[in-house]
Amino acid sequence: MHGEAYHHKAKKSLGQNFLTDQNICRRIVDAIAPGPTDTIIEIGPGQGALTGFIAQAHPARFSVIELDDGLADRLEGAYPDIEVIRADALRFPWESLNAGERCKIVGNLPYNVGSKLIWDIVSRVQTLDRAVFMVQHEVALRLTAEPGCKAYGGLTAWVRNFADTRYLFKVPPTVFRPQPKVDSAVVAFVPRPVGEWPRSPQALDRLIKMLFQKRRKQLSNILKPLWSQEIENWFASQGISPMARPETLSPQQFLELSALI
Ligand code: SAM
Repeated sequence: MHGEAYHHKAKKSLGQNFLTDQNICRRIVDAIAPGPTDTIIEIGPGQGALTGFIAQAHPARFSVIELDDGLADRLEGAYPDIEVIRADALRFPWESLNAGERCKIVGNLPYNVGSKLIWDIVSRVQTLDRAVFMVQHEVALRLTAEPGCKAYGGLTAWVRNFADTRYLFKVPPTVFRPQPKVDSAVVAFVPRPVGEWPRSPQALDRLIKMLFQKRRKQLSNILKPLWSQEIENWFASQGISPMARPETLSPQQFLELSALI
């Protein structure tokens, strides 16, 4: 089911930039490596650029989540064996997947919701086997940044407490219709063992948001209202100066500190 024949008018509000390069589609699908025993979920299948290649691998279960009704109709017609879920992926009950088989999630995500979706998926789907997402290039850099780098931020510290990330490749605007204004990149996610996930994700979420709202300030300054001897000792044990800035803490250090607050 490919593009132009349907004369679908791309909706900017839904981040509709459709992939037109078969080679790139294939590389994304190769990264998720669909197999006949897999449960695959694709977010935002659009005109089916990735969907067709995934379907060729005949996964045991294949569901797609598409918000645009017109596109969902076409997908249902073109792929009768696929479950087409007409839903907003931002409101999808990701925890419901925990009752099923291990799954792989893939998508060329709409730019405006990519970070939020990834934040939710990696922290809620305990049965995730791996995920591969195309996002805005800048978001890919954030997801794969190391502490101390400019791109390192709240998204990095959060996601990396749940999954390891790998930057796979950059994708230029020229392979989309319509063309976006910025570069994109494909990132792979391999979940960490669930036993190592944060025990209190709420505490980690709160700390990350608190610290990165003021990323130019010193940690001791931001944490002043919460400061305790325990926190002081923790900084000493980690060899971190309380005068350091939030982006110097590793994802693991965010987790440890959140447990003290
Ligand atoms: N996978 C297709 C491709 O690569 O050509 C389309 C990718 S396009 C960047 C994003 C797709 O996500 C569009 O089909 C759009 O309608 C859909 N979409 C946008 N917002 C969504 C949401 N909140 N939930 C589910 N799908 C959404």
